[in-house]
Amino acid sequence: MLVRVIEILVGLMVVLSLVRSVVGFITKAYTGQSGTAPQRAGNSSRPQSSSASSSTSGGELKKDPVCGTFISTATAFQGYAGGQTYYFCSTECRDKFKA
Ligand SMILES: [Zn+2]
Repeated sequence: MLVRVIEILVGLMVVLSLVRSVVGFITKAYTGQSGTAPQRAGNSSRPQSSSASSSTSGGELKKDPVCGTFISTATAFQGYAGGQTYYFCSTECRDKFKA
């Protein structure tokens, strides 16, 4: 009796893994055709760098015009006003500046 149960369980697992591999194959083929949209959203070379700044690593220290905090241009939030680029420590400061 116990052997039978094990046989059924093993059979179920085999079927499950089969279904899984088939589903994985189908989804792979599907996403392969559509070209993985979320990963190609940014620049193809560097998807992690948020906004275009030439010197990404390290960066330059800029003063937040709203709260006076110094932040690195690599991590700062950029804002444009009057043809100039401003750097902010947070989106809150940027919103305050624009308001
Ligand atoms: Zn700030």
